[in-house]
Amino acid sequence: MFVSASIGIALSYAGGSPEDLLSNADTAMYSAKANGKGRFEFFDEAMRERTVNRFEIETGLRKAIDERRLVLHYQPIISTVDERICGFEALVRWNHPERGMIPPGEFIPIAEESDLIILLGRWVLRESCRQMAEWHRRFSSVPPLTVNVNVSSRQLCDSHLLEDVEAALTESGLDPAFLALEVTESSIMGNAEQTLGTLDRLRAMNVRLEIDDFGTGYSSLSYLQRLPFDTLKIDRSFVRDLSAGSDSLDITKAIVEMAHSLRLEVIAEGVETEDQLCQLRELGCNYVQGFLFSKPIPSEAAPSLYPKTREYGLLSAESAPLAVCELG
Ligand code: C2E
Ligand code: MG
Ligand code: MG
Repeated sequence: MFVSASIGIALSYAGGSPEDLLSNADTAMYSAKANGKGRFEFFDEAMRERTVNRFEIETGLRKAIDERRLVLHYQPIISTVDERICGFEALVRWNHPERGMIPPGEFIPIAEESDLIILLGRWVLRESCRQMAEWHRRFSSVPPLTVNVNVSSRQLCDSHLLEDVEAALTESGLDPAFLALEVTESSIMGNAEQTLGTLDRLRAMNVRLEIDDFGTGYSSLSYLQRLPFDTLKIDRSFVRDLSAGSDSLDITKAIVEMAHSLRLEVIAEGVETEDQLCQLRELGCNYVQGFLFSKPIPSEAAPSLYPKTREYGLLSAESAPLAVCELG
């Protein structure tokens, strides 16, 4: 057996009780583990702040789920062919009593370290299916839209995911064909054999499956071929750097061609300019999503753009790109 040690060191010159000193050393030890193990780290104030912040987020989030303080905002996904909305991506926010709307980047990574992500994900699934089913009933004269829901790697490995998806669909009455689950490359490739079964079963339920943030993680091409995906979302880092002659243009072109030859549709994320839209259309990208059309907006605001854009297309409407609600 080879044993390695991670060491946390705290100094007592700042005063405080022996318990504080031990607790600080403990915090530094966890930091040493998180930063690669087999090393030592000294405790500092920033470490304490991070720990307190994490703790506050974790306990606050648990309460927020119970008290229904999470909200979903919806960002339209638009077809490059006719510039019409085909669906919305549901993106969670935390409506904090003191801090206002907290973006997911601040709490999802913390939720992902415990079972909190399972509770949060279950709520997101239920709420987004409920909302989309309601829109389907309300706007029954227009073709139904799809709702995209992000699923984290921990959820994907959780044995209850299938039940949760089934429950969300049954409760809401949403047709499974209008639910798309987004998973990142890394969360699949990390344990591909295990997730393959789950993904196959989801596919058998007729739920759509999409690869999120494609190009930022690592993918095994043989798995890409075997996994039952319908769509691949090109990460916005490639879209941002799209300009004639750049590497991103070549990479994006290659991704679109590869996806199409695997019979996958392609969504480009983070489209902010007309120029990017034109290039993506030329490359044959099927859908786009980004601030050029709309930021993620609250559910109350979505219906106002829903039937109109469906009828006229977004960009061909005379108005400038959609009025948007800023995230607080
Ligand atoms: P994502 O799934 O890749 O979602 C797209 C993110 O890009 C969203 O950020 C969206 O607001 C942002 N975005 C869209 N268009 C543009 C653009 O044109 N320019 C720029 N700069 N950004 C754009 P958001 O809402 O902050 O979400 C961040 C990430 O948090 C998401 O990335 C997703 O990974 C995660 N997330 C959000 N909601 C959920 C959820 O319900 N469950 C889980 N597991 N993760 C979620
Ligand atoms: Mg996503
Ligand atoms: Mg993404």
